[in-house]
Amino acid sequence: MSKDNEKDTKANETPSANDAGKSRRNFLKFGLVGAGAAAVVATGAVAVKRMQGIPHDEFPVELNDDFKPIDQRNQINVFCGSKALNEKHPERTRSFNEMLKKEDPANYKPFDFYATRRAFMSGPYRDAPGYGQLDRALAVGGFSSARQQLGGGSMEAPNSGVSSWEQTMLVDHKYEFESPAQANTDIKSAARLYGAIRCGITKRDKRWDYDPMYSVSEEKELSWEKDFPFEPKSVIVIMTEMDYPAMATAPAWIQDATVGDAYANAIKIAGQITIFLRQLGFKAVASMNDLGINAPYAIAAGLGEGGRNGQVIVPEYGPRVRISKVYTDLEFVEYDKPRTYGVASFCLNCKRCADSCPSKAITFGDQTWGPEYSTDPDYIWNASKGILKFHNDAKKCAKFWIDNDGSCGNCIAACPYNKPDFWHHRLVDAQNVIAPGPVHAFMREMDIFFGYGNVSDPDKVHRFWKLGDKV
Ligand code: SF4
Ligand code: SF4
Repeated sequence: MSKDNEKDTKANETPSANDAGKSRRNFLKFGLVGAGAAAVVATGAVAVKRMQGIPHDEFPVELNDDFKPIDQRNQINVFCGSKALNEKHPERTRSFNEMLKKEDPANYKPFDFYATRRAFMSGPYRDAPGYGQLDRALAVGGFSSARQQLGGGSMEAPNSGVSSWEQTMLVDHKYEFESPAQANTDIKSAARLYGAIRCGITKRDKRWDYDPMYSVSEEKELSWEKDFPFEPKSVIVIMTEMDYPAMATAPAWIQDATVGDAYANAIKIAGQITIFLRQLGFKAVASMNDLGINAPYAIAAGLGEGGRNGQVIVPEYGPRVRISKVYTDLEFVEYDKPRTYGVASFCLNCKRCADSCPSKAITFGDQTWGPEYSTDPDYIWNASKGILKFHNDAKKCAKFWIDNDGSCGNCIAACPYNKPDFWHHRLVDAQNVIAPGPVHAFMREMDIFFGYGNVSDPDKVHRFWKLGDKV
C-alpha cells in the first residue's frame, strides 16, 4: 500500500472506531489529569513558580571562546537566495551532494541550493491531502501580506519595506518616560494592542547580530558602523501565534499558510512599534529574520528557552510562534531577564521533533559545543560553534522544503509543548517542570498514546477544511 493510500484509509476510519478511540482517550486523559492534579496540588507552589521560569542575570546558555557572531552570508536562506554567493562557493554544493550520495546512493539526485530554491512553492499540485490547489492557494495567500509589507523582499532581507532603515516620521521632541520600568510597560502595552501574544525587551547584544549583514537584492555586505542609521541600544522582541489546526497538518502546504500569516502579523507589529518609537523621538528599525538571530534575542528577553528543534519553546505555545524584533536607540528602559522553564531537561528525553523530522536534520544526541554531523569545513560552513546547544543540520531541512515544494513544520507540530490552551494541557505542563527525567520520558509516551503531535495525517487536513463551519 502506498503511503498516500495508507493515509486515506486512516482518514476513512468508521465513526464507531473513532468514537471508541475518543472515549478511551478521554477516559485515560481524565485519569492522567487526576494523577497530575494530585501531584500538582501537592507541589503546587513550586510548580507555579517554575512555570513562570527561573530568572537569570546572564544569558542562560553557555558560550566558549570558539563562539563568534554569524556572517549573514552563511545563513542558509540567504545563501540559497544568492546567485553571487553560490558562484563564489561551489564547494558547498559539492560537499552537500557528496553527503547525499553517501547517505542514500539509491535515491541520490544532484541538488543545487540556488537553482532549486528559485522554483520553491511553484511546482504542480499533488494528488494527496494537503497538497492540492486549495492548499497551495491558502499558502500563497498566507504569505502575500508579509511579502507586500517587506517590499517583495524575503524575511531575511535587511532594509526592505517595513524594515526600511530610513527614519521616517521621527519627531524631534524626545518623550520622557516616567521610569525605565514604565517604559517597559508602555512599549509592551502598545505591542499587545497591535496584536503581540508576547513581548520582551533586552539589551542589544552584538553576539546575536549578523556581522556583516548581507543584502541579496544588491548582492552586497552591509556594515553596522558604516551603513546602519544609528547605534542600537535595545531590542524589542515580539511574538505572534501560528494556528494550531493549520500547524497540525504539517508538513502539508496548509501549515505554510499559518507560517506566512504569523510572519505578516509579526512584521506588521514590528513596523507599528517602530513608528510608535519614532513618534516618541527614538530611532527604530523593524526586523524579521534579518539584522540578528531571533532565538537568542527571545531567550535573552525571557520569552522562552531553546529546544532540541532549534526553536524557542514558549510557555503555553511551545515553538508555535513567529518572532520579529525592533532595534532602537532608546536606552531608558528596564530589561527583562532571561528565564529557564525546564525545556532543555524535557528535550533530553523527548526527541519527538527528531523522530518526526523527514530529513533527519535534528540531532538525537545531547547538547554539544558545535555540530557533530560533520567535520568538513565545506559542509559545516553555516553552523555556529562555541555554544552549548542541540546542533542541527539546517541544510538538510532546506532540502526537504524544496523536495516538499513548501516548508515543513513537523518539528513544531510534533512538539509536546505545542498544544492549544486547554486547562488540562497547562496542568500537564505544570507537572513537567517539577518532575524528574523518567517522568518526562513517560509524558512523551503518553503524548504519543493520546495521539498528539503525529504528522503527515490526512485527518488533520480534512478537519482543517471543516473549521470554516464554526466561523
Ligand atoms: S522543518 Fe521539517 S525538515 Fe526542517 S528541521 Fe523541522 S522537521 Fe526537520
Ligand atoms: S519535540 Fe520534544 S525534544 Fe523536540 S523541542 Fe519539543 S520538547 Fe524538545
